[in-house]
Amino acid sequence: MSTTATGPTAFAPAVAAFLSTPVHKSYHGGRWVEAADGQTFDVLDPGAGTKIATVTSLKKADVDKAVDSAAEAFTSSGWATMQIAERAARLHRIADAVEKRKHEFAQVEALDCGKIYSQAEADVQNFIDTFRYFADLSQAVNYRQVIAVKHHEAWVARHPWGPCGFIIPWNFPFLLAGWGLAPALAAGNTCVLKPAEDTPLSALYLCHVIEELDLLPAGVLNVVTGLGETAGSAISQNPRFRRMSFTGSPEVGRLVAEAAGRNLIPVKCELGGKGAAVIFNDVDIPATAQKLVDAITFHAGQVCCDATRWLIQRDIYDDFVGECLGRMKSVQIGYQFDDGSQMGPVVSAKQRARVLGYLQKGVADGADLILEGGEAQISGKNGFYVKPALLAGSLNNVAAREEIFGPVAFLAPFASEEEGVRLANDTDYGLGNSVWSSDLQRCARVAEAFRSGNGWINAHNVIVHGVPYGGIGKSGMGGGVVSPETLNDYLRPISVVRPLQ
Ligand code: NAD
Repeated sequence: MSTTATGPTAFAPAVAAFLSTPVHKSYHGGRWVEAADGQTFDVLDPGAGTKIATVTSLKKADVDKAVDSAAEAFTSSGWATMQIAERAARLHRIADAVEKRKHEFAQVEALDCGKIYSQAEADVQNFIDTFRYFADLSQAVNYRQVIAVKHHEAWVARHPWGPCGFIIPWNFPFLLAGWGLAPALAAGNTCVLKPAEDTPLSALYLCHVIEELDLLPAGVLNVVTGLGETAGSAISQNPRFRRMSFTGSPEVGRLVAEAAGRNLIPVKCELGGKGAAVIFNDVDIPATAQKLVDAITFHAGQVCCDATRWLIQRDIYDDFVGECLGRMKSVQIGYQFDDGSQMGPVVSAKQRARVLGYLQKGVADGADLILEGGEAQISGKNGFYVKPALLAGSLNNVAAREEIFGPVAFLAPFASEEEGVRLANDTDYGLGNSVWSSDLQRCARVAEAFRSGNGWINAHNVIVHGVPYGGIGKSGMGGGVVSPETLNDYLRPISVVRPLQ
């Protein structure tokens, strides 16, 4: 089968069987469970606009039972007390199983979130890498750190916390499930994951594989499906969790942090962004323009850390914009499984309306529409397609200040290094900014001057296992992901002290 499957008839047999499931149930306590009230919700293929699955819609009482399963598994399944190397081996077996079925997972993911197939494959590879990274790292942690102090025997012991809750969005469902689950599991915790209602399928597919191969004790991994305001809210309110992790919009992040805060449960929030690229006049203009066009059209711009404000040094502004225009216009929009498609649909009609709405609001607020954007039609497909767009003007414009989450960049000139940095930092968000210049000393200076969790040099959207990735301000709080600190976040320290005299 080619890497760009052409549709449902080309699905791997295991994927076809999975998709024929009449009602996809949630998985908790090692069992497949439906909502007590029998309610379900539909999941669509964003590229075709057609229904692909019916999924059980859990309510609070159902979700609470899943959390009970995770709590029970923490105390009695043996996962929390298992030898570190044995637990790490289980994580590698999960990575092996996903690797063996990479094509299947990529098909499910591409179908469910409208992601270009090759990009879905890269996300699956990232999940595998994340599990292997934390499996290996967990074996290098000092779980009993002796502290040399006078007149006392002392050490810090590190233990898993208990049940951990995860609420994730729809833009990178499988990759983000990996970023959340792998460190928590490696540390010996049990997990309850709520995927977004638009994209629950890859997490459920994972549960099928884990169950079939008996890779985890029952109740260690639980996946609950449902709507944000019911199932998601139930996760955030449950007092039995010991750690909570939310990835999504700042608006919902605030609700989750408030609810978990009432139970004094620490929350890690990975939220939205309004990243800037600061482009100096000594760049290779065509190469830099291409990289930024690739970044903003990657997954139709539905990337939290994307470069959405392109700040261009004034003397190359016109040349740079000209290079970008041609490249944006030539991006091939198409169905996520079709050969040649470079940019697929956005995830839903709601998301398409959001992107188109911001174009209108931006223009009404005084922005120049350099590249019009708008709805795109794909022959034979009734999905949610939008064209890439470029806006320019005052950075106080609503489209320059608020997160659009689509293939839309806002352009503005700057004169000096000081002004470039100041404009980049003039936002409530603080996730990822980039600096583009052939002067690497200047790049290092500017990257450190950014008020954001990440500063990238001559590239954008650079996330590497081992390097902390997180946001500040409206982009997040409570620690980042994919680094040694992340594993530490899932280990509870206890200081043990014995006076010697
Ligand atoms: P969202 O906040 O609407 O939803 C995220 C998750 O929260 C979903 O699972 C949803 O069901 C759930 N939810 C909704 N209402 C809830 C409630 N009242 N209580 C509890 N849970 C609730 O976000 P989205 O539209 O799915 O995703 C887009 C956002 O995610 C963007 O802002 C994007 O920047 C952000 N994001 C951030 C990162 C990061 O690493 N910083 C990564 C990916 C996405």
